[in-house]
Amino acid sequence: MARYIGPVCRMCRAEQKKLMLKGDRCKSDKCPINRKRPAPGKDPKGRAGKRSDYGIQLREKQKLKRIYGMQERQFSLFFERALRMTGITGENLFVLLERRLDNVVYRLRLASSRSQARQLVLHGHVAINGKRVNIPSYLVKPEDEISVIEASKGLAVFKDALKEYGKSGVMPWLQLDPDALKGKFLAAPRRSDITDLADIKEQMIVELYSK
Ligand code: SF4
Repeated sequence: MARYIGPVCRMCRAEQKKLMLKGDRCKSDKCPINRKRPAPGKDPKGRAGKRSDYGIQLREKQKLKRIYGMQERQFSLFFERALRMTGITGENLFVLLERRLDNVVYRLRLASSRSQARQLVLHGHVAINGKRVNIPSYLVKPEDEISVIEASKGLAVFKDALKEYGKSGVMPWLQLDPDALKGKFLAAPRRSDITDLADIKEQMIVELYSK
């Protein structure tokens, strides 16, 4: 399936949830969700029909897929991998998603959105344990060191993104040295650690794929 190239905010409006896809704009008054814009094609007065179980499960999957900026095929491969792991499938899925290199770069505050992190990785600005890696879906392992390559350290994009580090730091399973532009993935997070996505009901995604 082709990558979505339409207006990004439309995806948030469709889910009626802030998916945080546009960096600083997401925290500003310009965000259509902050301005209470209705879902595309929906009655602005909010009259909506009842959703089926399938519809609710589908929306939950779409939300998570869009948050991590993934296409359907790749997302379903991640799900299959989560299914093969020991433990709870929904939680395994989250662990795998959080280990994606583009996500880790975003979480380390080296990019202001996951899509920007994806571009930075694709363009070869990021290394793992000193070796350049340009695969956004690369799965980072505990104790891996993620750094900006020497030649890219002067790019304004990193300085801009790091402003968020000054405000809210990084998630507890990560560590960042902002001056050296390098960080560490300390350990895979537990589901309960991923507090900003606490409202996602991963069990519904499991039910959807189990049909
Ligand atoms: Fe757009 Fe960000 Fe608001 Fe989503 S959260 S609607 S991407 S500004």
